[in-house]
Amino acid sequence: MSPPSTADNPGGLGAGRHSIALGFESLAIHAGQAPDPSTGAVVTPIFQTSTFAQSAVGQHLGYDYARTANPTRSALERCLAALEGATYGLAFASGMAAADALLRQLRPGDRALIPDDAYGGTYRLVSKIHAPAGLDYLPVATHDLKAIAEAFTDNTRMVWVETPSNPLLRVIDIAAVAQLVHQHDAVLVVDNTFATPYLQQPLALGADAVVHSTTKYLGGHSDVVGGFVATSDEDLASRLAFVQNSAGAVPGPFDSFLVLRGVKTLAVRMDRHCTNAATVVELLRSHPAVDQVYYPGIPTHPGHDIAARQMRGFGGMISFTLHAGEAAALAVAGATRLFTLAESLGAVESLIEHPHRMTHASVVGSALAVDPALLRLSVGIETVDDLLSDLSQALGILG
Ligand SMILES: *Cc1c(COP(=O)(O)O)cnc(C)c1O
Repeated sequence: MSPPSTADNPGGLGAGRHSIALGFESLAIHAGQAPDPSTGAVVTPIFQTSTFAQSAVGQHLGYDYARTANPTRSALERCLAALEGATYGLAFASGMAAADALLRQLRPGDRALIPDDAYGGTYRLVSKIHAPAGLDYLPVATHDLKAIAEAFTDNTRMVWVETPSNPLLRVIDIAAVAQLVHQHDAVLVVDNTFATPYLQQPLALGADAVVHSTTKYLGGHSDVVGGFVATSDEDLASRLAFVQNSAGAVPGPFDSFLVLRGVKTLAVRMDRHCTNAATVVELLRSHPAVDQVYYPGIPTHPGHDIAARQMRGFGGMISFTLHAGEAAALAVAGATRLFTLAESLGAVESLIEHPHRMTHASVVGSALAVDPALLRLSVGIETVDDLLSDLSQALGILG
């Protein structure tokens, strides 16, 4: 089976009057989304159909059954592939389904190196689903190139990184890790959920595959769950398409439409997420109740120089600890009014959460456990002064 979801002309729009190289913002709005040929509809329709008519057995217009391919999903796959500078793109029902399709490329006995501060769901998928099926995995401090080099064994086939990472916003030098991984004949997967392709393009830096939870910044409005994998490796794309079609964890047409709609404003949203977050960081750094602030835009952040080199901006995610420990963190998380207390991230509205008891509860007691005094913010695109006032009043309850 050949990979169906090719971006016909990444960086352009394919045949016709628009076949010109386009910038990121233009691709986000137009790639894969030419007006519908049958009606002229400017917005890609929600093709709410499970099957497609055939004029004779095996004769159809490129679609036969919607698990294999659906035109709304194809538009999304082409658009996101273009944004990542990838030849192929595959959309999934969730970020975890996308991660699962990548991990299924490994055989029993193969080793995967994963971050020691991996997204909790990724750690759970690796340790509770793939390890019992024979995967050999090792959590590694992936921001430390030497630690990755030392963890390589003959059976290491995949290195998985998140940058910036969750929840400590560690930064990984993608180009340096890619070089190391390729010396060992393994593949490098980058979870680009926190950065988005607007801020960082891992394939251009040497990664073999990019994985996303489109639930976050790409969708951007907290109204859809989805996942995505981008790669320019034809063989990997074919094998992923085989999993996508065989296991069937595909997004429906309405979910695909929502992500496509969200992604049109990705660039302007990310610009505002970055400037709002930088302003919130200033407040936190000068607040007496706050201990550590984790944000790659801070010049003393250990990954600052790498982030400045490989990212267009520092993103909208901030973590910080409180001097007064877990009880204070729980109190502040319960005291914000504009920042909603909720899991997830990357949408227009600001969120606050307590990783130890919420997103990272599944790693408590393991090497991946996080500081109970830590709070994580997903800084939204509301009026920044309102965000500052809300955090000031919430931190103010600590007296
Ligand atoms: C949310 C998230 C995932 C999982 O995605 P779902 O869409 O929730 O399945 C994976 N990686 C990161 C970094 C995430 O934030």
